[in-house]
Amino acid sequence: MKQVLLTGDRPSGKLHLGHYVGSLLSRVTMQDQYDSYIMVADVQALTDNFENPGLVQKNIYEVASDYLAVGIDPNLATIYIQSQIPEITELTIYFMNLVSLSRLERNPTVKAELTQKGMTESIPVGFLCYPINQAADIAVFLGEIIPAGEDQQPMIEQTNEIVRRFNRIYDVELLKECQAHIGLNGRLPGIDGKNKASKSLGNAIFLSDDTESIRNKVKDMYTDPNHLKVSDKGQVEGNVVFTYLDAFHNDKDELVELKEHYKRGGLGDVPLKALLFNDLEALISPIRDKRATLSHKFIKEVLLDGTSRARTKAQETMRQVRAAMGLNHFT
Ligand code: ATP
Ligand code: MG
Repeated sequence: MKQVLLTGDRPSGKLHLGHYVGSLLSRVTMQDQYDSYIMVADVQALTDNFENPGLVQKNIYEVASDYLAVGIDPNLATIYIQSQIPEITELTIYFMNLVSLSRLERNPTVKAELTQKGMTESIPVGFLCYPINQAADIAVFLGEIIPAGEDQQPMIEQTNEIVRRFNRIYDVELLKECQAHIGLNGRLPGIDGKNKASKSLGNAIFLSDDTESIRNKVKDMYTDPNHLKVSDKGQVEGNVVFTYLDAFHNDKDELVELKEHYKRGGLGDVPLKALLFNDLEALISPIRDKRATLSHKFIKEVLLDGTSRARTKAQETMRQVRAAMGLNHFT
């Protein structure tokens, strides 16, 4: 039996290069090896978009298109919609008894996101509890391998605490502990250099961006603000162009030389940005082309079929969860 790989994205916008390096690429390369479950997390997207359900609904198709366009194969991976698996919601409720409020408030990812979203005054309970929901997302499919960005590490720890508690309290070995599989480049910054690239911050290069958008975003990319003349010595650290070249430029020896040249002066931002633009256009153009071939009807079929397969698996786990908790009154 293959181990279960599980991961997902909030349909709060189209997917971007941060998703690509953080998690999408590993999903594609690992999909043969594992039983892959890939979730469009619409319930989670609603935790901070509850007043805008249309946005979430529309982006379910965008995110699914991005999955297929980067090479996730619906014959190998089960792609499904979170809200259509009510077993996840049920397990979330049971898990709520296993976590304290102070533990949730200490979760560093939640803390950072509350600040980022300006929710520090009045925290929606649903938002605060989303790590519990995420634990249920993983546990209900017995997920063990979680390809995700660096920011998700605290979520995995919290999931494992809940899983261990559940198994101990109900004296079973049912739920599995999981481990994060963090993409090679950790956390990709946005073009502003201030935050991580994020759908909600408008600072990302999307996998569906056209050539001109990519060109303009690369042009606007944050470099070294003190590198005014070509002859000036430049700083590589914190320079978004170099961070992106680290992630996307294949010729690593050339990159070492470029960094040395930039540091000692004499290399301007313009040729570096041209190089990066070429790398990104070469990466994104086949994804964009594939995306254009995907019909709404096909995507719907993929989602429907994946959701139905996922539900069967979740129902099986929940039968065992209810039995362990003494909730199988009529069976
Ligand atoms: P939102 O702004 O709505 O939270 P997001 O851009 O942060 O969207 P998510 O759907 O929250 O994207 O994240 C999905 C997955 O992609 C997670 O595993 C996350 O760690 C990873 N990810 C997101 N942004 C980046 C990034 N900039 N670098 C690396 N991984 C990322
Ligand atoms: Mg996020």
